[in-house]
Amino acid sequence: MLIARKVVHNLKEYHPPLGGRSGLRLDFNENSSGCSPRVLDALSRIDGDLLSKYPEREPVEAIAAEFLSLQSEQVLLTNGVDEGIHLICETYLEPGDEALIVVPTFSMYEIYALATGASVLAIPARRNFEFPSAAVLAATSKQTKLIAIANPNNPTGKVVPRERLIDIIENAPDAAILIDEAYFEFYGQTVMDLIDKYENLFIARTFSKAFGLAGFRLGILAGCAEQMRLVRRVSSPYNVNGVALACLPEALADREYVAGYSAEVRTGRRRLEDEFASLGIPFWPSHANFVLARLGEFRKPFVDAMRSRGILVRDRNSDPGCESCVRITVGTNEQTDRLLRELRSALESIGWRKPTEVSQ
Ligand code: PMP
Repeated sequence: MLIARKVVHNLKEYHPPLGGRSGLRLDFNENSSGCSPRVLDALSRIDGDLLSKYPEREPVEAIAAEFLSLQSEQVLLTNGVDEGIHLICETYLEPGDEALIVVPTFSMYEIYALATGASVLAIPARRNFEFPSAAVLAATSKQTKLIAIANPNNPTGKVVPRERLIDIIENAPDAAILIDEAYFEFYGQTVMDLIDKYENLFIARTFSKAFGLAGFRLGILAGCAEQMRLVRRVSSPYNVNGVALACLPEALADREYVAGYSAEVRTGRRRLEDEFASLGIPFWPSHANFVLARLGEFRKPFVDAMRSRGILVRDRNSDPGCESCVRITVGTNEQTDRLLRELRSALESIGWRKPTEVSQ
């Protein structure tokens, strides 16, 4: 009888609710208006010759490195950030080691870490999802071989100040510190400039969010050249497909597209937050392209009412500390107009009342 490894049997299945996603998709933090037209142009030029060839990653990696003002050896293109996380876990974790995460956060850190046979220490965020820097430092031990931090975090939109990140990087020299900057474009702050300074620092970026290329599965993992040489050993030489590689230079070149979209998202985020505030709905001010809000007993009826109005939002009730919470992705100005209109109508239809009005 074929028996999978015990840790695999014990892994939770992770099935993102992707089925039947028609309508305005504000549930997965994707770019809700597509990608740069320059990418679509490049895509239309793909021919059979390109498809028949094994993909050559290095020339495009050099372009990505230049985009980030890094050396090619410091950069690995990956099949989304997901693969970057997987490679870091495969490179630095083994049974007996510990990976440290702060929850709630992105699910794949835990899954890939556990799959190596390492254990995962999940430290709860503080009140209001503040990052528990002191607890993380206190929990760091000789066994800690990975600390993964999404900055901004998903699903909370919270950030960790640069100085706190540096504390962790400096106090855990034997651990890989993965700073996942998947939502960088909506925040604007990075620790990419520290890559040369710390050999244990890795930074992940994605093309799935602001760039609008989630379907390409493209990400960047950056780190010091020496460590990246080891990470590369674990990676497939053909991890990124040729079509995505052919289009990536255009995506990188169209800075205006990404800047314009990110600016609209920032405006929309503020409008959504103002709306939550005026409705008396608790929410967490966000630095990403989504806002997490607490709907209480109205959570499920709200998600359903939005769906019936053609807008998908994400129920995050089962994330640690996110009981009765819903996460809403922010898109273009026009989409935000529609979102705010339908949000009010949905809340009205399910009988939401501002808490103070109820008690009056
Ligand atoms: N990191 C974070 C923090 C995310 O929220 C997500 C997607 N939800 C990812 C990584 C995955 O990115 P990719 O599509 O590049 O695998």
